[in-house]
Amino acid sequence: MNGNLKLAVQSKGRLTDKSLELLKHCGLDIEDYSERLFIPAGNFSMDILFLRDDDIPEYVQDGVADIGIVGENIFLEKQTQTKILEKLGFGRCSLLIAHPEKTKLKDVKDIEGKTIATSYPVILKSFLKKEKINAKVIELSGSVEIAPSLGVADLICDIVSSGNTLMQNKLKGSFKVFDSQAVLIGSVKNSLPETKRKILSDLLLRIRSVLTARNSKYLMMNIPKSSLNKITGIIPSLKSPTVLNLADDKMLAVHAVIPSDKFWAIVDDLKTAGASGILLLPIENMIL
Ligand code: ATP
Ligand code: MG
Repeated sequence: MNGNLKLAVQSKGRLTDKSLELLKHCGLDIEDYSERLFIPAGNFSMDILFLRDDDIPEYVQDGVADIGIVGENIFLEKQTQTKILEKLGFGRCSLLIAHPEKTKLKDVKDIEGKTIATSYPVILKSFLKKEKINAKVIELSGSVEIAPSLGVADLICDIVSSGNTLMQNKLKGSFKVFDSQAVLIGSVKNSLPETKRKILSDLLLRIRSVLTARNSKYLMMNIPKSSLNKITGIIPSLKSPTVLNLADDKMLAVHAVIPSDKFWAIVDDLKTAGASGILLLPIENMIL
C-alpha cells in the first residue's frame, strides 16, 4: 500500500485506449501498459489497475480500487454501492431492443408476451416494469445477437453504437432502453482518507477542464467596427468576447470561446455581418 489513489480501467476493450488518452490529456505520464496488470502514473500519485469491465463496479465498491472507469450500462446493471463522479463523454452507445427484420414491432406494447435475450437483465427488467409490459427475459453472457436465429428468443436487448452487428444478423433496432457513455465511479460504501480525497479532487479538476476544453473552441475573426454589436449578438460565447484594435482603425479583431457544436450554425450569420478571416482553434485545457 503506497497511499496512491487506485484507478481501475478496462484491461482490453473498447474503453481502454480512450480512458488512457483522457488521463494523458490530464497531464499524467503513463507508460506503455501492454499486458500489465498495474502501472503507476509517473508524475501523479495514482496507480492504474487493469481489470475486466464487469468486475470494476464491485472492486470499486469494496475498495480494491478507489475509483474506476466503466460504461454506464455496466454501472447500472451491476447495482453496486457506487456512484457516478463524472460522465466522461466517450464510449457512447445505446441499449436497444431489436427484432428480426422479418417480424413487425410497431408499438412498445407489441413486446408483451415475447422472449427477450440480453446481457442486461437488470436494466431490461426495470424498463419493462416502467412500461408495464410482461415479457420473458433470458440472460446470455455474450453473442446475444444470434439468439433469434437460433430460436432461443423472439427479440434481443443489446448495446449498439453503429448498428453494424444488428445489420449483419438481420436485426432491426426498435426501442431505445437508454443511452450510455463511459463514467468515472467511486464507492459510496468506503470513504477515502484525506490524502486520497485530495488526489481525487485534483484529478476531477483536470478531467473537467479537459472535457470542457473538448467541447469548446477558440473563435477568432476580423470585423468592421460598425458591426460590433451585431457580431457580439451572434456569438454564443461562454464569457464576454475579447475585442482588440487593429492597425486599420475601421476594423476590430474579436476572439471568443464558443461551444464546438455551435460553429457551423453561426458562420453564415458572421459572414453576412461582415466578419472575415474567421479562424476556429482547438483548446487544450480550460479552467473556468
Ligand atoms: P471485458 O473483456 O472487459 O469484459 P467486454 O467485451 O465486456 O470487455 P467491450 O465490448 O470492450 O466489453 O465494451 C466495453 C464498453 O464499451 C461497453 O460496456 C459499453 O459501455 C461501451 N461500448 C461502446 N460502444 C459499444 C458497442 N458498439 N458495443 C459494445 N459496447 C460498446
Ligand atoms: Mg465485459
